[in-house]
Amino acid sequence: MPLSAPAALACILTCLPRPGYGYVKPDTVHGVVEARLTIEETSAHDPRFDAEYKSGYAVELDEHGLMVRRFTIHVPDSASLPYAKRAGRFLALLWGSASRRFGTLSTMLRKTPVDVWLSRSGEAGGEQYRNNLYIYDFPAERTGIEWARELAHEYGHYLLPGASGYMSPESWANGVFGERLFLHWMRDDLAGGRIRSEEMPFVQQADLDDYCAKQVTPLIDRIKTSGADSTALARLDKKGMDAFSSLLLYAEEVYGPASLLNMLDYLPPGAAAGAKGIDFLSAFTSYVSKSETLTMNIERNNTTMIYMPAGLTKIEKSASDNLAIASTSSATLATSNGVLALRTKESRWIPLISTGAKGTATFTIKRAGS
Ligand SMILES: [Zn+2]
Repeated sequence: MPLSAPAALACILTCLPRPGYGYVKPDTVHGVVEARLTIEETSAHDPRFDAEYKSGYAVELDEHGLMVRRFTIHVPDSASLPYAKRAGRFLALLWGSASRRFGTLSTMLRKTPVDVWLSRSGEAGGEQYRNNLYIYDFPAERTGIEWARELAHEYGHYLLPGASGYMSPESWANGVFGERLFLHWMRDDLAGGRIRSEEMPFVQQADLDDYCAKQVTPLIDRIKTSGADSTALARLDKKGMDAFSSLLLYAEEVYGPASLLNMLDYLPPGAAAGAKGIDFLSAFTSYVSKSETLTMNIERNNTTMIYMPAGLTKIEKSASDNLAIASTSSATLATSNGVLALRTKESRWIPLISTGAKGTATFTIKRAGS
């Protein structure tokens, strides 16, 4: 029987989702990429322990005007939703920072939504299993930076290339590397105004400045000062894992984020699934030697060690930039026919210095043969 007009109107009014009547307006996150968090009160079971999670958030990110789910944050019950919201906001911001740098080069960013399970059980810590990130004993007391590191660590295991076979602190290096790389990127996005501080859960820029001063900058500086340390990269302990972080953070800074993924083409055959730290050094030097054209970013007025393959390398620069070899070296840097060219008999790390106003100078380098 058709409803009378007033009855139909009453139904429309009561059946429409409205704030305060079971419908909660999605939470928006303004980061490098816009995101939307929506509560989901549906039962789900995690794939490792088959535990039930009754509540959570869908985390969707903008992709050319369409909102696409990238994460689902699961919690045992609706009382735990504030934890899921903070984790979801953080991962949405992290995803935006990663997408800005990797674009579509990282297929894992867009391959499938990642399920995040905030579990009451286990010891405080985390784990990655396929496209699942576990955070154990989530109500345990953690500082903001510990939350940020934990989430960045597990997403690093999922998203980033990594060496494996370490004896300590764990077998894969891409978790610790993820903490360092992602928190470094988010610090830069906060400093650059691409993430507003009020959007950021867990940490503020000062926390990330402090973290980067201890965990990121010294590792990059090691290679800038001395070149890559093959002895340290061959180690299978924490020092070896730090050397791996060091090499990749340096590559990202000098050759850009795409270098982290492009160098994987140069891993020794068959090593892709279980490459060691030292394999990444040979992948890096091959990548730098064999790429026809690369862009190189050098912080001005500081000596930076740069790996140069044997032979001739042409270097294009803007008129205002100067480039020199910083100390006595068997390599030569000379301008002929208006083109700057570096020549070295052997492949080696060469100390270069770019002088000028504070900031970063960008050069295009082209291999010109032997
Ligand atoms: Zn780990």
